[in-house]
Amino acid sequence: MNTIQCSVFGHDFIVSKDITAHVKEYQCKRCKKQMTTSANGNLIPLTPQFQKINSVLKKVHHKKEKRKEFILDR
Ligand SMILES: [Zn+2]
Repeated sequence: MNTIQCSVFGHDFIVSKDITAHVKEYQCKRCKKQMTTSANGNLIPLTPQFQKINSVLKKVHHKKEKRKEFILDR
């Protein structure tokens, strides 16, 4: 595996999922480690619990966006 490279050079994260404007999920290109943005803006490991929180956040966020569009349409 390439995980040795990660422990030496650090992870090479790319955005895997946009949750909101401030919260994103990241995945390391080499070892596939997943991280997410915490409430205070730090990167923390993406646990199943946070995955759940993020999917709810994403739903709520997109609902809001839709409502905005609807209001703008009228
Ligand atoms: Zn890595």
